[in-house]
Amino acid sequence: MIYSDDEIEQIRQADLLVSKTLAEMGKILKPGISTLQLDKIAEEFIRDHGAEPAFKGYEGFPATLCISENNKIVHGIPSEKVIIKEGDIVSIDCGTILNGFFGDSAYTFPVGEVDEEKLKLMKATRDGLYKGIEAAVAGNRIGDIGYAVQSHVESLGYTVVRELVGHGVGRHLHEKPQVPNYGKRGNGKKIKNGLVIAIEPMINMGSKDVQIANDGWTFSTLDGKPSAHFEHSIAIRNGKADILSDFEMIDKVVYQNK
Ligand code: MG
Ligand code: MG
Repeated sequence: MIYSDDEIEQIRQADLLVSKTLAEMGKILKPGISTLQLDKIAEEFIRDHGAEPAFKGYEGFPATLCISENNKIVHGIPSEKVIIKEGDIVSIDCGTILNGFFGDSAYTFPVGEVDEEKLKLMKATRDGLYKGIEAAVAGNRIGDIGYAVQSHVESLGYTVVRELVGHGVGRHLHEKPQVPNYGKRGNGKKIKNGLVIAIEPMINMGSKDVQIANDGWTFSTLDGKPSAHFEHSIAIRNGKADILSDFEMIDKVVYQNK
């Protein structure tokens, strides 16, 4: 799919609502809160802004947010039984539908005092995402994005999850092309103006191997070590990446007192 500037502006509005929702989550993400409480507040916030949660009901997913703490990689189902603890790292992935367009972004939050090793993993994942975005320029290929992410995080000793990938996004939550976080330079489809994609590295501290829980959704690391996840939706405009989601408003909430 190739989107016009007008359509891209509408996708941006959906993404900015995702970012605002994630910033709200940052305000209330404290030890003792359950992931189900977070989910309820996020759903209400999204609906209050005239939008719908994009994940709820998607292929049967039961909630507004995917919340994946520590060794969980992605697609964790919010639950009253999952209580946030001091020292957790918590990936929250959120999607919205606003005026028929889909927003999709994810951010890994530190809760209280987080140990140095987990903070380094988070930074590597986030930096890997931005390396991928830098490679997302017209004339490059999709494989250049994955190569950029992979070479950055592997140089630091981390591993890239293979089972899940980024994707086109806009009129639907998941569109072509798939955007792996690993790859070879010069491989895959050409990147063109008007392309809108979500880039979302899922990076493990230990091995890249995953397991899926009995709930059929939750991906965790096989070795039980931590994993981090950051996701931006971007549009290719005037030859380069225009980031549609916004981490700055989340960072302000999360790091204001640090
Ligand atoms: Mg997402
Ligand atoms: Mg996504």
